[in-house]
Amino acid sequence: MPSRKFADGEVVMGRWPGSVLYYEVQVTSYDDVAHLYTVKYKDGTELALKESDIRSQSSFKHRKSQSSSSSPSRRSSSRSRSRSRSPGRPAKGRRRSASQSREHKDDKKKTVQETSLALPVFILFKPSENNTKRYNGEPESTEKNATSCIILEQKLKPDLEMKRVLEQYSLRSRKDDKKKEEIYSEKKTFVAVKPIEKVSTKTKDLEFGGRIGTFMLILLLPATVFYLLLMCKQDDPSLLNFPPLPALESLWDWRVFGIFILWFFLQAAFYLLPIGKVVEGLPLSSGRKLQYRINGFYAFILTAAAIGVLLYLQFELHYLYDHLMQFAVSALAFSLALSIYLYVRSLKAPEEELAPGGNSGYFIYDFFTGHELNPRIGSFDLKYFCELRPGLIGWVVINLAMLLAEMKIHNLSVPSLSMILVNSFQLLYVVDALWNEEAVLTTMDITHDGFGFMLAFGDLVWVPFVYSLQAFYLVGHPTTITWPVAAAITVLNCIGYYIFRSANSQKNNFRRNPADPKLANLKFIPTATGKGLLVTGWWGFVRHPNYLGDIIMALAWSLPCGFNHILPYFYVIYFICLLVHREARDEHHCKQKYGLAWERYCQRVPYRIFPYIY
Ligand code: NDP
Repeated sequence: MPSRKFADGEVVMGRWPGSVLYYEVQVTSYDDVAHLYTVKYKDGTELALKESDIRSQSSFKHRKSQSSSSSPSRRSSSRSRSRSRSPGRPAKGRRRSASQSREHKDDKKKTVQETSLALPVFILFKPSENNTKRYNGEPESTEKNATSCIILEQKLKPDLEMKRVLEQYSLRSRKDDKKKEEIYSEKKTFVAVKPIEKVSTKTKDLEFGGRIGTFMLILLLPATVFYLLLMCKQDDPSLLNFPPLPALESLWDWRVFGIFILWFFLQAAFYLLPIGKVVEGLPLSSGRKLQYRINGFYAFILTAAAIGVLLYLQFELHYLYDHLMQFAVSALAFSLALSIYLYVRSLKAPEEELAPGGNSGYFIYDFFTGHELNPRIGSFDLKYFCELRPGLIGWVVINLAMLLAEMKIHNLSVPSLSMILVNSFQLLYVVDALWNEEAVLTTMDITHDGFGFMLAFGDLVWVPFVYSLQAFYLVGHPTTITWPVAAAITVLNCIGYYIFRSANSQKNNFRRNPADPKLANLKFIPTATGKGLLVTGWWGFVRHPNYLGDIIMALAWSLPCGFNHILPYFYVIYFICLLVHREARDEHHCKQKYGLAWERYCQRVPYRIFPYIY
C-alpha cells in the first residue's frame, strides 16, 4: 500500500475536479482504503481528492519565478494573474508596451470571452481564495430563475469553449499542460454526468452524540415506544404515574408476528407490481442515477381494498388495538434483524455505495446511522420501500383500528369528533406523502442517510406506533370538542398542510428542473456545485419552511385530544426537537456543500424554522 504524501493540516495546492486549476487547500484527513485526501478550501467547501490532484505549494512558487523562460504573454499573464484573482475576470493594472500590443488585442478578445463566459466559469472552476464570493456562485445580485436554463446549457458547452477558457489561466503545473487533452475529455464527463460532490469517504463528523450517543439511542428509542404505549393504556396517563411493567412472555405472540410478516411481504408484493412510472433519483457521488418505481399510491389503494374485504368478512380490526404492544415488539424484532442484515451486507458494498454520513468505521455508529446508502436486492430498494410503505400505510391502518375500537368499547354508532379529526388529518398526511412519492427522492433520508437501525426502526416501529398515539389515547380517554373548536383546528391543519406541501413542491420542482417556467418568478443564489439556493418564495421566508408547516400540522393533530394530559402532545414536542436537530444537521451539510454561498443565503434568510423566533 503506498504511503501518503501529504500530512493532515498541510497547506497544499489542490486541483479543482475536472479543471487544470489549482487552489490553496488544507488537508484535513486521508482515507487509507479509498486513497483519497479530504481537503478544505478557504470558504469551507470540502472535497475528496486523489493524490495525483494535489501538488506542494513550492512547485507553484517555482513556476512563478521562471519568467525568463516564458513567452512575454505568458509571463505577463502569470504575473498579473495571481491565485487571488477570479478566473472569470480580466487582469487589472497590466503594463502594456508596444511589443505587447498584440497581447493587448488578445486581452481585449479575452475580455469579451470572459464576459460571455462569466456565468459558467463559477460553475466550472474553483476560483481563488480572495474571490470566494464569486466562485461560490454569487454574482453581484441573485439570478432570476429564467437564467438557470442558460447556466445549465453553458455547463454543457463543447470542449472548444472549455479550451478557450482554460487557456486564459496559467495556474497549473507544467505536467498538466501535457495532460490538457486528457483533462478536457474528463471535464466533459464530469460536467455532463457528475455533479461536483464529495466522493463517499470516511465520516469524520459524528452526529447523534457519536458512538456513545448512538448506542444509547439504540436502547432508548425502543424503550420510549414501550413506555408511551404502556402509559396510553393507563386510566391516568400522567407523567409521574409510571406504568407497571408487563410480564415478558406477554409481549410476544407468534400469531401477531406472523401477521406482521404477512403485512410486510404484502406491501413488498405491491411494490413489485409493474404499475406506476419509473423515475430516476438524484445523481449519486459516482454520477450514476438509480431508478425507482412510483406506485406507493397504488399500494395504498390496494391495501384499502384488502382492508375493506377483511371488514366485509367480519374480521375484527380492533384486534390491533388489543395487541398493539405485541405488534410493536414484533416490528422491533423485525427491524433489528433487518438492521443486522443491512450492516452485514454493507461490509461487502463498494466504497462509493456507502452513505456519506454512515461510514465512520465504528461498528455501533455505522450500524445505527446506516452504512450502505441504497441497499438493493436486484431492483428492490430496501430503504425506499421501507420509507413510505409498511410503516406509513401501517400507521393509517392502526388509526382505523383505533377508530373502530373506540366505537366498539364506548358503544358508539359514529366515532367521536376528535377521533374523526385525528384520523382525517393523519390520513391526509399519509395520502399526500404517497401521492407525492417522487419528492422523497430528494430528501435527506434518501440522498444522505444510509439504511441502518435509525431508519429501519424509525420506518417500521416509530412511525406506526408513536405517530398513532393520539388515536390510541382517544380510545381510552374520550375527549369531547365542540364544532367551532373542531373548525379552528381544521383551519390550523390546512394552513400547516399548505405551507408544508407548497414548500416541498417548490424545492422539489426546482431541484428536478430549475428551468421550469412555473418557477420563473423565483430568485436563487447559484453555487459552485451548479445547484441554486432559492431565496424567494417559501425558501426565502425561512430556511426550512417545510418543517414549519409540518410542526403546525403536528400541533393540529394533538389539539383534538384536549388538555387533560401531556401524553398526546408527545408527538409535537418530539417533532420540534427532531426537526430542530435535523435542521442543524442539514445546515452543517449545506455549509460543507455550498460554502460561502450558504452563508450568503443565511444572511438573506436569517430564520431557520420559525420566523422572528428561531
Ligand atoms: P428537506 O426536504 O428540507 O431538504 C433539505 C435539502 O433541501 C437541503 O439539504 C438542500 O439539499 C435543499 N435546500 C436547502 N435550502 C434550499 C434552498 N434555499 N433552495 C433549494 N434547495 C434547498 O429535508 P428533509 O428530508 O429533512 O425533509 C423532507 C420533508 O419530510 C419535510 O417536509 C419534513 O418536514 C418531512 N419530515 C417528516 C418527518 C416525519 O417523521 N414526519 C421526519 C423528517 C422529515 P440540496 O441542495 O442538496 O438539494
